[in-house]
Amino acid sequence: MIPLLLGITLAAAQTPTPDHGSARARMVAQDLLPRGITDTRVLRAMSTVPREEFVPAELRMEAYADRPLPIGPQATISQPYIVARMTELADVQPGDKVLEVGTGSGYQAAVLHSLGARVWTIELNPDLARGASRALRKTGHEEVQVIVGDGYDGYPKHAPYDAIVVTAAPPEVPKALMEQLAEGGLMVIPVGKDQQVLRLIRRRDGVLERRDITPVRFVPLRPR
Ligand code: SAH
Repeated sequence: MIPLLLGITLAAAQTPTPDHGSARARMVAQDLLPRGITDTRVLRAMSTVPREEFVPAELRMEAYADRPLPIGPQATISQPYIVARMTELADVQPGDKVLEVGTGSGYQAAVLHSLGARVWTIELNPDLARGASRALRKTGHEEVQVIVGDGYDGYPKHAPYDAIVVTAAPPEVPKALMEQLAEGGLMVIPVGKDQQVLRLIRRRDGVLERRDITPVRFVPLRPR
């Protein structure tokens, strides 16, 4: 009787260990593949980066939910599908120089870095930048450079970039970002005020080509 009771007590006292690995695999199988994410390198990155390390502790159990999550004041970690789609559109190759605007949690930066890119990421909010640096270090992505600054200015120091990924929406594409895009480079950016659209911009032979991909909802890229 006593051992049985003890067994029950112990089982009840243990908090269940969340199986983030299978949640991640389910996310890929149910939320990415069926919606047309086909780039195997992107799928591999999404299958390996531990998203639970980039969300607030109280939201860990929901880290792989099919929706964005709040990570701070005027900041959300995008829905996994949107992260995968933007990463796929940016067509990042190993060794590419990539600029991200809107570090937030650091998750998108970690995914870009897992593709072998050199990543610089800019965040306006110093507290978020600090948290992101910590999570990036913990998950082995300490090579990602987190810069506290205004994304409207881009980061001229390492320009031009092969890809620029913007994860907050300005009303118009900032001029500085256009100028910091390399020849042949790709920019993925949500644009618009009330109605936003995810836009893909390619610089080819000095000309900027635009393609609107899909309606989206991002937090605003705040003016300085
Ligand atoms: N890519 C992030 C999500 C970003 S949410 C992730 O993977 O978690 C958008 C972020 O843009 C917020 O953290 C917000 O603080 C930041 N932001 C807003 N305006 C900005 C600006 N002008 N410059 C840099 N960052 C800005």
